[in-house]
Amino acid sequence: MFGLPRTLYNDDHELFRESVRAFIEKEITPHNAEWEKNKMVSRESWKKLGENGFLGIQAPEEYGGMGINDFRFTAILIEELGLSGCSGPAIGYPLHSDIVMPYLLHYATQGAKEKYLPKMISGEYIGAVAMTEPGAGSDLQGIRTSAEDMGDHYVVNGSKTFITNGYLSDVVVVAVKTEQKRSSKAISLLLVDKDMAGFKKGVPFEKVGLHAQDTCELFFDNVKVPKENVLGKVGEGFKYLMTELAQERLVVALAAVALGEYMLKSTIEYVKERKAFEKSISEFQNTRFKLAEMMAALEQGRIYSDHLVMLHNEGKLDSAMASAAKYNMTELQCKVADECVQLHGGYGYMWEYGVARAYADARVQRIYAGTNEIMKELIARKILK
Ligand SMILES: Cc1cc2nc3c(=O)[nH]c(=O)nc-3n(C[C@H](O)[C@H](O)[C@H](O)COP(=O)(O)OP(=O)(O)OC[C@H]3O[C@@H](n4cnc5c(N)ncnc54)[C@H](O)[C@@H]3O)c2cc1C
Repeated sequence: MFGLPRTLYNDDHELFRESVRAFIEKEITPHNAEWEKNKMVSRESWKKLGENGFLGIQAPEEYGGMGINDFRFTAILIEELGLSGCSGPAIGYPLHSDIVMPYLLHYATQGAKEKYLPKMISGEYIGAVAMTEPGAGSDLQGIRTSAEDMGDHYVVNGSKTFITNGYLSDVVVVAVKTEQKRSSKAISLLLVDKDMAGFKKGVPFEKVGLHAQDTCELFFDNVKVPKENVLGKVGEGFKYLMTELAQERLVVALAAVALGEYMLKSTIEYVKERKAFEKSISEFQNTRFKLAEMMAALEQGRIYSDHLVMLHNEGKLDSAMASAAKYNMTELQCKVADECVQLHGGYGYMWEYGVARAYADARVQRIYAGTNEIMKELIARKILK
């Protein structure tokens, strides 16, 4: 926001940014309030993203992707979605492209790749990942959803909760127990399809924020899943989750910085307009210092995130680094949210103000993708190794 040079982006990236920004202004921002009322984005919006190549930027061209092996393009999409302040879409679309799709790209059978990837890239199919259960969130090894080996297929029983994109989901990466014991080797990943008998969805939850997000429960009642839908090797699911969660945490961190910048920008505009004691509230030292503190912290966050994007591009981002980014940037986002609401006074508490929505939407960033306490555990594990 100071205009500190961002050395990681070249002209191609900036051109891409312009097209993303124009798309968001036309196809996302005007619909967000309606999507919040509907508790989900429209299916049509997914297809429009697909038509423009914004789903699966890094997916190979053979499946309809853009085949761009450069995470910077993905980072731009996440950043621009965050800067729009539309948090529901800013979380749901990247979850599909950058969190769910990598599981298929890295571990799915050829048959499953051919069946699902083209539809996910076009926006016809929406993806979700289901780890959390009513009885197990942070403690992933405590999950109970079972998959029984029946020879040529598995039979899945159990339930998942708090699943992002859940209500609209067409294909779900589901973490299951292939052995009923407490061990990382007992967890496997399966692809469950919306058309499989016995797979049901709950209604979208009434959440504190992220109202345009169709977070819901998923139920599995004797669901027959063909072995072709197993991701990678049976018993390796926990390892795959730990590997892929690094990118998920980076995605959350990038969205956090951009949403923080969105709130600060809205607040700068607001304090210049609002008057108290016959002067602009931007003239009070408290306002000026708060804005300066937030600006300084967000600039630091932006440059730190840029560095992590480049590290990830080089394949050097490890679990502890991603955890530190998620922890750092989401704590900052929530701090900025609180200060920005305060500077708006009562208006900051009114839903029609972007900053009020952004405040409500921010809180969960410290909870999902691994709570920030779990992030600190992962960082500590590396330090103390
Ligand atoms: C809006 C939303 C969207 C979500 N999307 C998804 C999704 O798409 N897919 C999915 O699988 N899940 C999703 N989740 C679930 C989310 O990842 C979990 O809520 C989260 O991992 C925490 O699990 P829990 O809710 O069971 O809390 P718990 O694990 O019960 O934790 C409760 C508290 O205990 C603390 N705690 C737990 N263990 C430790 C420990 N070892 N050390 C210190 N403190 C600890 C936690 O940090 C937390 O403060 C979503 C959640 C929400 C709210």
